[in-house]
Amino acid sequence: MDSSPARSHTSLDSFVDLYAARTAGMTASEIRALFAVASRPEVVSLAGGMPNISGLPLDVVGSAISDLVEHQGTVAMQYGSGQGLPELREQITDVMRLEGIEAHPDDVVVTVGSQQAVDLVTRVFCDPGDVVICEAPSYVGALGVFRAYQAEVVHAEMDAHGLVPEALRHAIATVKAAGKKIKFLYTIPNFHNPAGVTMSAQRRTEVLEICRDEGVLILEDNPYGLLGFEREPLRALRADEADGVIYLGSFSKTFAPGFRVGWALAPHPVREKLVLAQESATLCPPQFSQMAVSAYLAKHDWVGQIKQFREMYRERRDAMISALGDMMPAGCSWNVPEGGFYVWLSLPPGIDAKAMLPRAVTSRVAYVPGTAFYADGFGSGAMRLSFCYPTPERIREGVRRLAGVLEAEIEL
Ligand code: PMP
Repeated sequence: MDSSPARSHTSLDSFVDLYAARTAGMTASEIRALFAVASRPEVVSLAGGMPNISGLPLDVVGSAISDLVEHQGTVAMQYGSGQGLPELREQITDVMRLEGIEAHPDDVVVTVGSQQAVDLVTRVFCDPGDVVICEAPSYVGALGVFRAYQAEVVHAEMDAHGLVPEALRHAIATVKAAGKKIKFLYTIPNFHNPAGVTMSAQRRTEVLEICRDEGVLILEDNPYGLLGFEREPLRALRADEADGVIYLGSFSKTFAPGFRVGWALAPHPVREKLVLAQESATLCPPQFSQMAVSAYLAKHDWVGQIKQFREMYRERRDAMISALGDMMPAGCSWNVPEGGFYVWLSLPPGIDAKAMLPRAVTSRVAYVPGTAFYADGFGSGAMRLSFCYPTPERIREGVRRLAGVLEAEIEL
């Protein structure tokens, strides 16, 4: 007789019945599903937001890393502090000074990209059913985090100057009237992902005032702030309000995303909770990556490198804007971003960007439908176009293909 325990064939076989309720909100984003298709060489991808790091001085990075292994290998490959490397936290305060922030390294928590910072902040603040106010549209990766913690997203409109104060007031009033708790306003003030807009200085003052009056904490997510094409960076919200703002930064766009190093700057008591959350999530952020980033900042003209990145992205932005102007059919409109990676394209009435996507991919061009950036199903009449990665020639070719698909759609 077979003595091995009988394997029962119940619905538990796939373990689906055992998943926590919060996994219901964990679904593949539209961008993720697209990556497989969009990465085929014949497709011009205006979809993903991958930084173009081809301009990085790999010799400088390489020698910093071999020095690290040779001279500090046993430290670099060891566990580190849950809050992050003290030298790097010090250097991070220099980076933030470029946007007017005066901060103490003790209030910085290093994270695995700013994506993990969004996660830790949400873990610390949000119970199921709590409300996070987000711009409409908003960053798909943050919406995924809010969903995973079962927070409710309430959108507030933006216009060409960023978040609209009346829309923010209205959202706050509506949520409060419904007896729900607002945990924070999540905002991307610079070169918004996906909308491409920048919050004006006047709007920053107004948003800070509203949040101060209403007792709403701000989560300022700023991975693109130093990648402006037209002028010096605007002052961060955090520069004018230390107590009511948690600021998130990242080296993914100003250096390289592969190191996965970002950070949160938080008021002191929040910082302590974030470190505890970080320790339970990862014990500590990767020591090796932090030391590599720290060595790069110490040895390389990183400000000069960011200027080069800005020139490269500006050229690509210009290529996209001129191609759109030359080729888009009537009824389409778009903004001219002053920095960052993205253009938001609004389509003529009746055209559904999500429904059109398979036809676009057949025509060898990819984009992200606007619906990916809303928690409530809106956005079907728009799409995000990224100009960061392809060459200017490929961008023009991609826009040409997209214009062809749109023209065919309009004729249908
Ligand atoms: N916030 C925004 C607005 C982003 O666009 C991104 C990356 N696309 C992130 C956060 C996360 O970046 P990382 O984790 O690489 O720092």
